[in-house]
Amino acid sequence: MSNILVYALHYEGAFNKNSLGAVSEASRLAGELGGEAHAVVIGEGISDELAATLGKYGAKKVIKAEGPEGLAGPVIGVLGKLFDNGGYEYAVFGGGLLGFEIGAGLAARINAGVTMEVTGVNVDGGKLVAERPILGDSSISTSRYKGKGIIIARLNAFEIKETGSDAPVENISVELSPQAQQATIVTRGEQRGADVDIEGANILVAGGRGLGKAEGFELCADLAKAFGGNSAVAATRAVVDAGWYPYAAQIGQTGKTVAPKLYLAAGISGAIQHKVGMQASENIVAINKDANAPIFEFSDLGIVGDLNKILPKLTEAVKARKG
Ligand SMILES: Cc1cc2nc3c(=O)[nH]c(=O)nc-3n(C[C@H](O)[C@H](O)[C@H](O)COP(=O)(O)OP(=O)(O)OC[C@H]3O[C@@H](n4cnc5c(N)ncnc54)[C@H](O)[C@@H]3O)c2cc1C
Repeated sequence: MSNILVYALHYEGAFNKNSLGAVSEASRLAGELGGEAHAVVIGEGISDELAATLGKYGAKKVIKAEGPEGLAGPVIGVLGKLFDNGGYEYAVFGGGLLGFEIGAGLAARINAGVTMEVTGVNVDGGKLVAERPILGDSSISTSRYKGKGIIIARLNAFEIKETGSDAPVENISVELSPQAQQATIVTRGEQRGADVDIEGANILVAGGRGLGKAEGFELCADLAKAFGGNSAVAATRAVVDAGWYPYAAQIGQTGKTVAPKLYLAAGISGAIQHKVGMQASENIVAINKDANAPIFEFSDLGIVGDLNKILPKLTEAVKARKG
């Protein structure tokens, strides 16, 4: 039977949004294959009541095992055992670094095919076919599996859909190999900016390498503050990699996808990997000193000039207008 296993990541009483999207998608696909989606939860002290709620997103059963949350080794151990026991043909995960690590490890453990950064899955001839963008998102490649298949979504690629009600919970105990227990979590820290709701913001003031240094983000923050309301600061990968701004604010292929009413890009060149994360914005305004910067090709309004002069003036103008 073509049942699908979905790993659902949990932290402090809530399931990760990507995981909920993966459960919804796996449930849809399992239905088309004539099988069931079973969610797997691994953690310390997760209640059956909480685990059962995954049924609302389409899981027909929730399998729960005690173990450290957020580490790939134990998840690979538990999922590997469930595959060994039989009845499963596919595993589906939400996007993110942990999902990539689990996917690679599980593929090696059960000798399966694996596709990462998947943005769409179809059923063809009773088998799953995964689609992933390649070559800077300019083409789509499709993956078919000779045997078992592991599908790892791009961040937020799968829509969360509430379709059912609480599912039965089966508690299992899996003896993990020493290898699966080698890594431990020493400490957990909050990333600066992680609490900012970039995806929910109406106005985003995004900064790129053109800001020149980490302190340049103060210009973006001042403008976002002047706009007020539901405004936030976003960033390109170049600047988060440089440590100028938190990863939580990164927009693009390997960051977040946003569609605010206004996306103001300051000192951003407009690379394709950035564009894919913000091109659905209602209004795009770009400030760049290079009149040939690619971002002007998909901006509604382009301002050619030095952001160090333009951003403070814009902030004053917004304040004056509001005041
Ligand atoms: C696999 C892969 C995934 C990637 N994922 C992402 C992703 O998710 N998100 C992302 O953003 N990138 C991503 N990238 C990186 C991407 O290719 C670009 O390198 C990056 O977006 C460039 O960032 P930037 O625009 O800040 O910097 P740059 O490309 O260096 O652009 C800086 C711009 O600032 C302008 N500028 C400089 N000084 C000023 C000034 N004083 N006033 C006004 N303008 C000025 C310059 O003219 C230039 O256009 C990815 C790359 C790869 C290979």
